[in-house]
Amino acid sequence: MNAFDEELSSRLNDVREQGLYRQLRRVDSPQNARIEIDGQPLLNFSSNDYLGLANDPLLKEAAIAAVKQFGAGSGASRLICGSLAPHHRLEEALASFKGTEAALTFSSGYAAAFGAIGALLDSNDVIVVDKLVHACIVDAARLSGAKLRVFGHNNLNDLEKILRWADRRHAAPPLTPSARRPRTLIVTESIFSMDGDPAPLRELAALKDKFGAWLMVDEAHATGLYGKLRRGLAEELEVAEKIEIQMGTLGKAFGAAGGYICGSVPLIDCLINRARSFIFSTAPVPAAAAAAAAGVQIVAGAAGEERRNRLWSNVTEISRHIDSKGSAIIPLLIGEEGKAMDKAAALRKSGVYVPAIRFPTVAHGQARLRLTVSAGHSRADIDLLLAALRAVNLTSKP
Ligand SMILES: *Cc1c(COP(=O)(O)O)cnc(C)c1O
Repeated sequence: MNAFDEELSSRLNDVREQGLYRQLRRVDSPQNARIEIDGQPLLNFSSNDYLGLANDPLLKEAAIAAVKQFGAGSGASRLICGSLAPHHRLEEALASFKGTEAALTFSSGYAAAFGAIGALLDSNDVIVVDKLVHACIVDAARLSGAKLRVFGHNNLNDLEKILRWADRRHAAPPLTPSARRPRTLIVTESIFSMDGDPAPLRELAALKDKFGAWLMVDEAHATGLYGKLRRGLAEELEVAEKIEIQMGTLGKAFGAAGGYICGSVPLIDCLINRARSFIFSTAPVPAAAAAAAAGVQIVAGAAGEERRNRLWSNVTEISRHIDSKGSAIIPLLIGEEGKAMDKAAALRKSGVYVPAIRFPTVAHGQARLRLTVSAGHSRADIDLLLAALRAVNLTSKP
């Protein structure tokens, strides 16, 4: 081994000793309620494919048709010659689904967060994020150069104190007379990815109004699941019009891949002009855009309503046996990293896949099994899951 590899191996040993070593598991099947991992068929309770669309024939046919008409690659970034009809159709479908003036898609939700936050803020501004927001928001906030403040999870008092501080900071005279007015952006998720609990969006919207701040909400785990029209938790709580920047992914309930920002025409125009992850990246392949558009169409229609109802009836059934926050994400808190790994391995042995989530995805000592439910699960699947959980003492209700 050369010196470079030796050093990296020693670093990896440290990771292993902390029980934090990660490994890829090869999946030899499409995404379904059942998947094959390392040759073993497993009941899949780990996916974010909440509505069971990732392997849906309509999405697959849409992707194939797009490949036939527009090819495999998109050739360039959107602003050069890669802004293909499937991208535009997808953005029109998304804006209409979410009920916003406009939408812009990115190669991933991660890229959407980077693009939006970086386009809107610079070092004169303040960004305030919930303690449990996704890594993409924290990373984007850091890179934007804005002053980053973190408020306690769903803690409105804490947030208000920070907003007061930000107001005082903004009141200082600008360094140059021409400098624009400094801004405060609040960012949260609507349903938190690792805990499955909701954010108090109404109260957050009221606070941002009170302080003249902007609000960005990541609906990655709520779009397709909440609200009469399945737009997300903001729709359900009737605050969508108050949220300046509505973010989401095309890789979860929509069954495809990519990320999006929905909002006003000036917002989208600003992103097209300033979002670096949009400008300096090859456009998503036509197949991805077309599959996502088919996903949006299904979620928006009667089949989406039917799938959403099936998902909630599965969640309700599981919640009779396990404490949950009522979302499709049901964390089984374990604590110690090694113990979480052991529980996950025991479940895998009995044919059920529920992955252990460890630091840095969650805090140290907060390791958990993250159980996710899909409309694709049958009642028999749920029964098998509950029996397996019972066998390893993981049901919290008798
Ligand atoms: C998955 C996820 C993202 C990232 O979306 P991708 O499309 O997977 O890059 C962003 N925010 C949250 C809360 C997520 O769970």
